[in-house]
Amino acid sequence: MSDERFILKNARHLAARYMEDILREGDVAVDATMGNGGDTAFLCKLVGETGHVYAFDVQQEALDRTAARLEEAGMRSRATLILAGHETMRDHVPVSPRVVMFNLGWLPGAAHIVTTRTETTMRAVQAALELVQPDGFVSICVYPGHEEGTRERGALDDGVYDAMAQEYLNIRKKPPLLIAVTKR
Ligand code: SAH
Repeated sequence: MSDERFILKNARHLAARYMEDILREGDVAVDATMGNGGDTAFLCKLVGETGHVYAFDVQQEALDRTAARLEEAGMRSRATLILAGHETMRDHVPVSPRVVMFNLGWLPGAAHIVTTRTETTMRAVQAALELVQPDGFVSICVYPGHEEGTRERGALDDGVYDAMAQEYLNIRKKPPLLIAVTKR
């Protein structure tokens, strides 16, 4: 038993926990929002040498940062980095992944102009749900602290799949929440 059992973790930690539970060596995973590559590297580690990660971002900067990070960790060959919107996922991911991971919002440490957008996010989540294996799942970290994040959160409420939101009730601070979605 871990001492950490009763500590409330934030949405990103919860998503990571689910990934650790579900991903096995040799699996295929998708990182729908590469950013600085933190999640891409984490997924690469979990799928191991025989697995593969497809990662998306619309900013070249994100691909560069992620490539450097993977290179440094000796895992560059485990990932395909794609400069395209995650809503085009169907065109780029040739196999059915076990998981698709979204971390919405903007690139940490860059201009806040390029944020994920509700309309494309919803198309991407739909594509992700079609693509994932029947026993797989989709995780979405949503940030209702900004306007577009609030819209994304509202849109995700209407999904036709089994979706569970885990969020702090400290509404005033609007902390990120995790939405975990499985196929019905
Ligand atoms: N997971 C990252 C953080 C992601 S931040 C990390 O661990 O560091 C969200 C990212 O989504 C930004 O880099 C932004 O450029 C990207 N983004 C915005 N719109 C997108 C789209 N339509 N498809 C894919 N990525 C998008």
